[in-house]
Amino acid sequence: AASTVKLQDIDPSKLSILETTTPKELVPPTELVFGRTFTDHMLSLEWTASSGWLAPRITPYQNLSLDPASCVFHYAFECFEGMKAYKDTSGKVRLFRPTKNMERMNKSSARIALPTFDGAAMIELIAKFAALEKRFIPDARGYSLYLRPTMIGTQRTLGVGPPGSALLYVIASPVGPYYPTGFKAVSLEATDYAVRAWPGGVGDKKLGANYAPCIVPQLEAAKRGFHQNLWLFGDEEFVTEVGTMNMFVAIKNKETGQKELVTAPLDGTILEGVTRDSVLSLAREKLAPEGWIISERKYTMPELFEASKEGRLLEAFGAGTAAVVSPVRNISWKGNLVECGLRPDQEAGEVAQKMLDWISARQYGDEEHEWSYVV
Ligand code: PMP
Repeated sequence: AASTVKLQDIDPSKLSILETTTPKELVPPTELVFGRTFTDHMLSLEWTASSGWLAPRITPYQNLSLDPASCVFHYAFECFEGMKAYKDTSGKVRLFRPTKNMERMNKSSARIALPTFDGAAMIELIAKFAALEKRFIPDARGYSLYLRPTMIGTQRTLGVGPPGSALLYVIASPVGPYYPTGFKAVSLEATDYAVRAWPGGVGDKKLGANYAPCIVPQLEAAKRGFHQNLWLFGDEEFVTEVGTMNMFVAIKNKETGQKELVTAPLDGTILEGVTRDSVLSLAREKLAPEGWIISERKYTMPELFEASKEGRLLEAFGAGTAAVVSPVRNISWKGNLVECGLRPDQEAGEVAQKMLDWISARQYGDEEHEWSYVV
């Protein structure tokens, strides 16, 4: 008779911790480079198709040992997350909206036939891990611990199929302020020869496979002196994302003069950014009562070009975990430099500045809010 085996979900009570005997020397805060140095430990969980999730382990940070035939190396069975832990003024460590990252990771893993997991249980484990690595977070505003949950298919086979085993691990890298000397507005190049995502594709999932193909367009833009590339889609030249950030623009309506904060809708071609969601939610809470319209709608480069020419493009900015917001000075598009509302002496628009302040207040616990998860 067929038996139904209940697969084990993540069980935080089974966590074992093996602390390092050789703690690392801390890198001086001002010398931290994003993603270059890592903490003492890592959190790992193995999964097998026959048993489910095995007991979680925190061990010293160490190399992985994988068979060269492991499916991650051949068919890109990999997805990841990017989130941060902040230290508040009383020294408590806080995660920012971790539920959102776990939901997104489960959607990513499910799409590539990797296992899903109990997000709340995983947050408990990440909280324990972040607390253990607390000494790596400098006691100053702007600093944080970047957390990188990663899942890979580990089955040793060249057969193309669903992985029968997987590894979920979390590593952590201390990071400094994105703008150590204040905002720096960036110049973008609209990419017209490559697309990042398409309807029915996987651009809305955080798969490693989405990122490698984005480097060449980024290098091309850099070669011509631009900080980032702007991803467009379709003959209409819809604006989708900027580098690895969601894009926001503030436009004044041609007829009514009303201000509108616009970002592209989640139609499958846009990553569901946690920062995007935070910006939208704060805009609805604080800008809408001042008369702003908050829109998740498609918008195009021709629309931005016209608004810019008519002085109605008030500002533009990217939004993502790394920078929170990244103000945009201009966009190179079809031989035009589309100016995005900043004066030459100005590095950020009003909305970008407010969003950074509002979001940081919730990340660092200056404002007690349900988005902040105290570990
Ligand atoms: N778009 C892409 C393509 C990204 O890689 C990221 C970074 N995760 C974002 C947007 C911003 O997402 P979040 O606000 O969750 O960092």
